[in-house]
Amino acid sequence: MTQEIEIAGLSKVFGQGASAFRALTDINLSIDTGEFFTLLGPSGCGKTTLLRMIAGFEHPTGGTLKIAGEEMAGKGPNARPVNTVFQSYALFPHMTVAQNIGFGLKMLGKSRSEVDKTVAEMLRLVRMEPMADRKPSEISGGQQQRVALARALAPRPRVLLLDEPLSALDLKLRKEMQSELKRLQTETGITFVFVTHDQEEALTMSDRIAVMSAGRILQLGTPHDIYHAPAERFVADFIGDTNFLDLPVTAISGDVATLTLPGGQSAEARLPAGYLPVIGETVTAVVRPEQAVLGEPGSGMLSGTVASSVFFGTDTHLHLTLSDGQDFILRRQNTADLPVPQPGTPVGITLGAGTLRVLRS
Ligand code: ATP
Repeated sequence: MTQEIEIAGLSKVFGQGASAFRALTDINLSIDTGEFFTLLGPSGCGKTTLLRMIAGFEHPTGGTLKIAGEEMAGKGPNARPVNTVFQSYALFPHMTVAQNIGFGLKMLGKSRSEVDKTVAEMLRLVRMEPMADRKPSEISGGQQQRVALARALAPRPRVLLLDEPLSALDLKLRKEMQSELKRLQTETGITFVFVTHDQEEALTMSDRIAVMSAGRILQLGTPHDIYHAPAERFVADFIGDTNFLDLPVTAISGDVATLTLPGGQSAEARLPAGYLPVIGETVTAVVRPEQAVLGEPGSGMLSGTVASSVFFGTDTHLHLTLSDGQDFILRRQNTADLPVPQPGTPVGITLGAGTLRVLRS
């Protein structure tokens, strides 16, 4: 696997003196060639700033940034083998779809036949051949987004940077475009660096995700790792619903801690790499709502009562109160013969092996 982008010790400070603002701190990152890589985080965490530095629109305050093995310091956007698709994809309104796609190629001085060949290829790639001669005002928002993608892909950049490109689309269209983007990336083999604040979008499309907060990367991993093995509270909280339980440690063996659950039973939980609590310390452990199984009172490791339940068709979301008063949410798959548990119903909860994990505090 070759590395397309290598970022080491990168930082960015906007402004100077008393008004200086540190937008990025010590960013270290390697993105593989052909990878679908996502920068995920809440508004203001610095993901757009990082993307703009890869593109060459912003310059780092410190650190290094290489693309295809070459240091990028001093190189402007046009001297980099990258292209960007912005949230506002602004097509040229007076040009047809085909002219929009070919525009960048013309600017690069490509011959007429080369431009025509690539435009035809791109129209096919984004499935817009029948609309080649329409103006942007004569196609839908999703189709405009496809044209913007084709325009950005046409010069065959090594890396395509995408800054929340789907956020202007409605939910149904966004879902369609998510699989469309993934298909385009797989078919072209181009490295995609995608920025979003939408955790579901990140989980469904990415090969790897960097979760960012306040200018730092908190965790970097596959969607599976980020979802099932969050290392920090912020990551666990930002990615889907999670139960946080404060539990005392009674023993540690290797990277597994034994914790005392509300009600007194013991359970084993995996520790994050490099984190070693002491015996007797109270740690925060997490378990996802769909990993806990609802049972009869007295069954399982935890007991509680139903505080409220919401029926969602395929599943029911239950808010429970554990025996020591801590809240617990649980998602139960529905079948036609399972009644919806009513508030006040006592229940038992089973936690499967490996579902409980300790967070770094
Ligand atoms: P969003 O999802 O809202 O676009 P983001 O994670 O992409 O957020 P950035 O746009 O990278 O965040 O901004 C990171 C921080 O840097 C913000 O607090 C922002 O106000 C600040 N910032 C960005 N550009 C500048 C600038 N040119 N001058 C000063 N501060 C800036």
